[in-house]
Amino acid sequence: MDFISSDLASYIEQHTSKESELLHQLNRETHLKVLIPRMLSGHLQGRVLSMFSHMIKPKNILEIGTYTGYSAICLSEGLAVGGVIDTVDINEELTPIITKYWEKAGIIDSVQLHLGNALDIIPRLNKAYDLVFIDADKENYSAYYDLVFKKMPVGGIILADNVLWSGNVLQEPNEMTESTKAIVDFNTKVQNDSRVENVLMPIRDGLMVLRKISD
Ligand code: SAH
Ligand code: CA
Repeated sequence: MDFISSDLASYIEQHTSKESELLHQLNRETHLKVLIPRMLSGHLQGRVLSMFSHMIKPKNILEIGTYTGYSAICLSEGLAVGGVIDTVDINEELTPIITKYWEKAGIIDSVQLHLGNALDIIPRLNKAYDLVFIDADKENYSAYYDLVFKKMPVGGIILADNVLWSGNVLQEPNEMTESTKAIVDFNTKVQNDSRVENVLMPIRDGLMVLRKISD
């Protein structure tokens, strides 16, 4: 579901910095060759991720849900000198397309792909993350939030994608799928968590932006 008209969406993209030629190619190749290409962040959200990263200048970024590597490239754009991205995905089949584009983007040395279930991998990552992007299976958003929270300093930022879930968050509880319920539970959980300040931004499918204010 699109929350704004296609004319307005075009206007917004026309007044947002272009995606690079490389990101444009990755976007196209994903649409031609990979299942469920709408999962890719795309032009507008990609520029939003890049903008956040530039504002934060993170030393360490954790991304949960790599897919074809588009959002990792966008997030890498604002990394501090010597900064690193750890990114986790359960799908091993996407590695060739991911590495091809990360090499072309010149970020292959600053990004580490961890293959496997994020629930197993995150506890093994011993770093402090100043920026986290949660974008994998919706059923585990609350679990990912709890796992990453401990690894973040006060002032750290979490971005969680698809929190409007095509508008399905407004459904009656008995109509909701498991994914919808999980997103609704996540949104309620963070709204009630006094350790964070949060803004639900109506960007694309909904981007929850959280700032950790206490441990
Ligand atoms: N961040 C990407 C899109 C991610 S799509 C972008 O914006 O372009 C969601 C990804 O989560 C898929 O690639 C899927 O394989 C991955 N995923 C789903 N369940 C997972 C799990 N339990 N652990 C790790 N990755 C998972
Ligand atoms: Ca997403």
